[in-house]
Amino acid sequence: MAAAAEALVTPGRPMLVASDIHRHFEGLHAVDGVSIDVPSGQITGLIGPNGAGKSTLLAVLAGTLPASSGTIVFDGEDITSSPAYRRARRGLVRTFQLPSEFARLTVLENLLVAAPKHRGDSLFGALMGKGYWIDDERRLVHQARALLDRFGMSAQESDYAGTMSGGQKRLIEIMRALMLQPRLLLLDEPMSGVHPKIVLEIQHYLQDLRAEGLTILMVEHELHMVERLCDSVVVMAQGKVIGSGTMATLRRQREIVDAYLVG
Ligand code: ADP
Ligand code: MG
Repeated sequence: MAAAAEALVTPGRPMLVASDIHRHFEGLHAVDGVSIDVPSGQITGLIGPNGAGKSTLLAVLAGTLPASSGTIVFDGEDITSSPAYRRARRGLVRTFQLPSEFARLTVLENLLVAAPKHRGDSLFGALMGKGYWIDDERRLVHQARALLDRFGMSAQESDYAGTMSGGQKRLIEIMRALMLQPRLLLLDEPMSGVHPKIVLEIQHYLQDLRAEGLTILMVEHELHMVERLCDSVVVMAQGKVIGSGTMATLRRQREIVDAYLVG
């Protein structure tokens, strides 16, 4: 599609447009009519008090939780009814907390299993023999090692993921998402519970990724970090968007300060 191809090269154009998203749990309106644009090539922050519906919104955007209603257009294409794996294939990827069953895999293996199924996993690939898929395998190992190098974790590639620090586990989550070569990365509090030194590292990695053209939408509760990192910010409370703009403009809005920014 011409429109989709254009989106790849037009900075500032919304990479994702979500309109009037609702997500109910029984009677609870966790996300209650949210419309949000995510501009390409920028880091957009999503803030708001506990229970505001931020994580639910991210899950709905990623497709891991269906919307009750509303539409989501990603890169010019309506993906509202696409399953999560298909959204990921198009470049819309969220992080997951490292699942506990992966604690017994090495750091490198954690990255490899995150990658899209390579050809050796199919019956056809298996029948065709090693020669058919070995290039895929090599390519993925190469890609994983390049990420480990970049994120300063090469020395840990053969260690069990379960033995890593909280911050290193966060980095593994991010690297696992990057194995899918996303164009829009959704991050849910990527720095929570992380040692301040690694918080700074993660900040720099995210800034580098943005400089390379990756679009990011991230939930973050630490407002100084949001101020340093995010080009614009969306504020949610009680399932609704109550404001958006730069942190500086939001700080001047009385109702937002009252609802969220104090305390
Ligand atoms: P936030 O991430 O902003 O803290 P959440 O999206 O996690 O908020 O939650 C929004 C509201 O939806 C909360 O009241 C939460 O208890 C509720 N909620 C979230 N997930 C579920 C679920 N799977 N089932 C029922 N209620 C849920
Ligand atoms: Mg949350």
